[in-house]
Amino acid sequence: MPSYAYFNKKIMPLEEAKLGIMTHFLHYGTAVFEGIRGNWNEKQKQTYIFRLKEHYERLAQGCRVLNIKLPLDIDKLCEKTIELTAKCGFQEDVYIRPLAYTSSKALGVRLHDLEHDFFILVIPWGPYLDVDKARCCVSSWHRPEDNVIPPQIKACGIYINNALAKTEAIQNGCDEAIMLSPDGHISEGSGENIFLVRDGELITPATTNNILMGITRNTVIELAEKELGIPTNHRAIDRSELYIADECFLTGTAAHVTPVAEIDRRKVGNGEIGPITAKLQEIYAKVIRGEYPKYIHWCTPVYNK
Ligand code: PMP
Repeated sequence: MPSYAYFNKKIMPLEEAKLGIMTHFLHYGTAVFEGIRGNWNEKQKQTYIFRLKEHYERLAQGCRVLNIKLPLDIDKLCEKTIELTAKCGFQEDVYIRPLAYTSSKALGVRLHDLEHDFFILVIPWGPYLDVDKARCCVSSWHRPEDNVIPPQIKACGIYINNALAKTEAIQNGCDEAIMLSPDGHISEGSGENIFLVRDGELITPATTNNILMGITRNTVIELAEKELGIPTNHRAIDRSELYIADECFLTGTAAHVTPVAEIDRRKVGNGEIGPITAKLQEIYAKVIRGEYPKYIHWCTPVYNK
């Protein structure tokens, strides 16, 4: 089944959406992107896009930081995304990638005096980490400070940092990297936020620990509070706390809720999926597929019934 893209203000087959090699952002990473999931519900024969508006709100914030103008307002961007995803017609989980970029055919490092453009593409995409339980290692690559490259926005250029960490982790025999903030506290995975469970309490790094403010992170915090009665403590986490945590898991649009079994060759808890992680994973899986009526407002159906 062919994929489609929204490119040059129209929907076209993905392979026809092509950029010239002079396009400014290709050279400097001056673009902002999103990663959104459409989750297939087999019983209902429906795809639900999860927290669509929140993803575009974060994209718009990134565009403000980089001075990139979006061509449409957030409601219209959501409408285009639904139309494009429906046109693709996939009956499986999909990944939606909007990207706003400096589009001038011009070289020169800057953010001013440039034209901007925007595309969306949709591809089928199953599990991201592709393991039931991840083996992680603390990376030798740190997250940047906000005054180096803002980690709170999904700017394309910053992902060099994430890619270095991810490949180091894989080449060292792990599934994912855990990156530290410049001051040596726990920050996040290369494409996920991180949570620990200690003595029945949920802990996650705070905004000030150089993290991307994940939409899955926000979802899990709300589900833990409302469904399990567990509040989350947002605070600086020391590296050694990773080794003594009862449970640990990663959260992300691509990775969902992924339990961590091992960190730096030390088992987390007994090395199995912990009880709080398991409950959150189960609730989250239902919520994103539109099977939990209380949270259906987070799910945008793609296909007209
Ligand atoms: N941190 C980084 C660096 C990421 O790339 C992602 C994926 N967008 C996340 C955290 C998780 O964010 P979200 O839950 O919004 O996908």
